[in-house]
Amino acid sequence: MEVESITSENDKLHVIIKGAHPAFVNAIRRIIMADLYIPAIDKVYIAENTSVLYDEIIAHRLSMIPLRGGENLNIPEKCSCNGKGCPFCEVALSLDVEAKENFSIVYSGRLKSEGNVYPVNNDIPIVKLNAGQKISLVAYARLGKGRYHAKWQPVSICVVKYEPVISINENCDLCGICVEKCLKKVLEIKENKLVVKSIWACSLCKVCEEVCPKAAIKVSYNDRSARLTLETTGSRTNEELLLMACNYLAQRCGELREIIKSIMEGVSNGKENTTN
Ligand code: SF4
Ligand code: SF4
Ligand SMILES: [Zn+2]
Repeated sequence: MEVESITSENDKLHVIIKGAHPAFVNAIRRIIMADLYIPAIDKVYIAENTSVLYDEIIAHRLSMIPLRGGENLNIPEKCSCNGKGCPFCEVALSLDVEAKENFSIVYSGRLKSEGNVYPVNNDIPIVKLNAGQKISLVAYARLGKGRYHAKWQPVSICVVKYEPVISINENCDLCGICVEKCLKKVLEIKENKLVVKSIWACSLCKVCEEVCPKAAIKVSYNDRSARLTLETTGSRTNEELLLMACNYLAQRCGELREIIKSIMEGVSNGKENTTN
């Protein structure tokens, strides 16, 4: 297996992995989406809310604000508090704003953290306050993972794409129909030849195959290569998420190997062995 290319573009990371089945790359994608611990607001105590939004809506809006930090926090399920919440597994963020005379928008930057957990972006609107309205609350952030709730999902995009393979045979008479019909502009005629100019732009729609009057073009995919694209919400960098996912996969494979080993030892000792 080899990583052929890693490219960053804005907040996105593209990684082309060769020599591995796309299902393997998809396992990494699923881990990133569901199994990595990042912080998010999980409890909100509202002391005062005279805004037009219900408490529940404000709590929901707070929970969806991407947070960074929290690397030193305990995982709540493994904390000595048994997940009830304590300073080792939670960080408090308070919000206390009153719109005195003018209408004002309360942004995520107004949250005051009592630990090392902060909003990724200070410009996320939480609520609008009219003159005289007030909001006062304490929110608690804790680590969680995407399989518990979308607020703990560390990516806004995480997709795997098969590597397209386009073959053109000698029947091609350069009529150009496929070039014209391809919405992704993958093909072009250059120096009297039909060529693929951007293979990863191909969506595998096979329109070119359908419109070709000579059956000269064939589209398939390489089942030993795939591209993983991810875009972080900002709680961890794309590179950190990728490494965290690889470590998690290695750890789970290690656990599986130990279970299989103990079953095999049981079988060779003539015992029946079952395990969860
Ligand atoms: S439509 Fe067929 S024949 Fe025409 S350029 Fe494309 S591959 Fe060649
Ligand atoms: S499969 Fe679709 S996207 Fe790919 S080259 Fe053909 S028409 Fe273009
Ligand atoms: Zn705790």
